[in-house]
Amino acid sequence: MKNYLFQLVIFSLLLLGLYQCKSGETYKKGSKEHIRNVTIKIDDNALLEADKDHKDWITYGLNYSEDRYSELKEINKKNIDKLSLHWAIQLGTKRGIQATPIVVDGIMFFTGPWSTVYAVDARKGSIIWKYDPEVPYEKALNLCCGVVNRGVALYKGAIILGTLDGRLISLDAVNGTLKWSVMTVSDKDGYRYSITGAPRIVKGNVIIGNGGAEFKARGYVTAYNAETGEKAWRFYTVPGNPNNPYEHPDLETAANTWTGEWWKQGGGGTVWDAIVYDQELDQLYIGVGNGTHWDRKIRSPEGGDNLYLSSIVALNPDDGSYLWHYQTTPGDTWDYTATQPIILTDLSIDKTTKKVLIQAPKNGFFYVIDRTNGELVSAQAYTYMNWAKGIDNNGRPIEVEGARYDDKKVHWITPSSHGGHNWHPMSYSHNTGYVYIPSLKRSGKYYYDPEKVFVSPDRPSSGMGYNTSIPSKLYLPTVYDQHPDAPKPGTSKGRLIAWDPVRQKEVWGIDQVFHYNGGLLSTATNLLFQGDAEGNFIARDAECGKELWRFDVRSGVNAPPITYLVDGEQYITIAVGWGGAQGQGAKVVDRIHPGTIYTFKLNGNASPPKKFPSLKKQYTLLETEDTPITIGKGYNLFQKNCSGCHFGTGSGSGSIPDLTMSQDRIYENYDEIILGGKLASQGMPNFKNKLTKNDVDNIKAYILFTAKSLRENPMQYRETLTNYQEIADQVKRLK
Ligand code: CA
Repeated sequence: MKNYLFQLVIFSLLLLGLYQCKSGETYKKGSKEHIRNVTIKIDDNALLEADKDHKDWITYGLNYSEDRYSELKEINKKNIDKLSLHWAIQLGTKRGIQATPIVVDGIMFFTGPWSTVYAVDARKGSIIWKYDPEVPYEKALNLCCGVVNRGVALYKGAIILGTLDGRLISLDAVNGTLKWSVMTVSDKDGYRYSITGAPRIVKGNVIIGNGGAEFKARGYVTAYNAETGEKAWRFYTVPGNPNNPYEHPDLETAANTWTGEWWKQGGGGTVWDAIVYDQELDQLYIGVGNGTHWDRKIRSPEGGDNLYLSSIVALNPDDGSYLWHYQTTPGDTWDYTATQPIILTDLSIDKTTKKVLIQAPKNGFFYVIDRTNGELVSAQAYTYMNWAKGIDNNGRPIEVEGARYDDKKVHWITPSSHGGHNWHPMSYSHNTGYVYIPSLKRSGKYYYDPEKVFVSPDRPSSGMGYNTSIPSKLYLPTVYDQHPDAPKPGTSKGRLIAWDPVRQKEVWGIDQVFHYNGGLLSTATNLLFQGDAEGNFIARDAECGKELWRFDVRSGVNAPPITYLVDGEQYITIAVGWGGAQGQGAKVVDRIHPGTIYTFKLNGNASPPKKFPSLKKQYTLLETEDTPITIGKGYNLFQKNCSGCHFGTGSGSGSIPDLTMSQDRIYENYDEIILGGKLASQGMPNFKNKLTKNDVDNIKAYILFTAKSLRENPMQYRETLTNYQEIADQVKRLK
């Protein structure tokens, strides 16, 4: 009997440990009932109150202000040395991962490459379900920046995501089954568009934009009913053909800022990242991207500001109608998008509290904007720049002479088209008062020749067909920036900046070896977390930047970390997967490891995943007997068809291989790979409708020539290639 009682007590204790009582229901954490119960509660009210406690991470930027500043305090400077791995899940993919995971009561949702979605039990690090929307691999041809996705939205028991091929999908959070799916792009020109950004939920609607300005898309954001998928409204960022009725009245005003026949090339202006709801003022802010083409001289030949390119636009969230805008780069001609993350806060400036939004767009200026009316409060350069000298009293950049590169010379301009800052989320600490910027130090080359305006084919591949501003010809006269702070041509570095938004100046900064590093998270204990290109996940003192802790995550990091509570314990999670626009063609670590989700807590005791030995690749030893003409032709074909993903040969490979370092069997199978789709499952599109066998032979000749030249005499390579390019151009002209 005693024994029986003892068993009963133990059994009851076990029950208490495994089960939790909530309004009469009992369920095991991680069970279907638990997932249903905790995800169904994420409604409009929960989103409005996301800042009440930071127990969960229920929306992309943590809260509607998207400040990525957590009030959680368990992990602090005193115990940071005890922060250790709780679990890690390898996803079996080597493409870029950029997702901010969403977590509610220990149930986590995030996206991997190809718009796949995962649900994970964060208590133990086990996958609950996985959903693959089966995006066609050919889609990779019409993407600028990799098969990436930045995250999902959670609303009333549904997980909502945008896919690379333009679908908006709602899944049952419990089991990942499809609730509804709508196509956000048209049948006719949908191939131009893609979605990589996270949807946001605003007042019962899900708001989504898209990418594709590099592919002649016309930008817009759309609101869909978050429960049914029914379309509520759409706002176009650029005017269409003025001979047709404008979709909304402000587009008529916008059309006055354009010249020529811009609509024939789509116009651009895609909203591929920042979509931020202001719950205080009931306004929606969108960050608008660059134009098609990049160069205004081609897009809008007689000038003009080209609204609403490179602008922050405020909309009425109920019907999508225009409220105000602030254009960061009027008449953009450098791909200086204003799609970069937007943070909302109040700042005390000159003893008055101002409701502001802050942004560090690609153009290199840090903006503080009055979000009640869109007026500029202040702007200062957060990075070196040589295209503008400052911002004038009207809030417009004061351009440097020659910055619009119209003298038939190649200009090295800073920031480059990758910007002084790209999509990687900033964090604004309410404790230190600093904004943390994952910035880029890089110059880019721009060029225009009025006699050789290249109108790209209607369906551009992922080559640079959309853009005439990147010269591939090494023999052109070039203007170099001699300033000691100017990033040297061809070099690139990163800099983690702590920026005081009130005084508009850098407080501290740390240079990083590569320009593409992960997004940021700050906490109330003045910890600042970031993953970097070198495969480190680092915690710093948010006040001074001093490193306090690091963990080897094997591969370079794109994504920002998050923090949340699970059963009262503070967890930190970061998704690691090298790739994206810059990770495809270059890397810092010796070897890219499979995409992995890492979760840490104090006194975690999991073993890290296996570290593979470094993979030292070498240039192929295969020879080519081809002529300069064949190699020059191959060079031109490579630039047009391959360089969008494979970048320059000899650059050292990122998540997409450097073709000069392939194994012999790859060269032997060029026809089957390029014209037969043999590696389609790895994301290599089939070019059978674009290239001939002769083209493939020329490309191969160029690759083998490059490998041989770099192997034998790298110093001579550029000179030799320059000669070949000139020959190839002459051949083209003779035709
Ligand atoms: Ca762009």
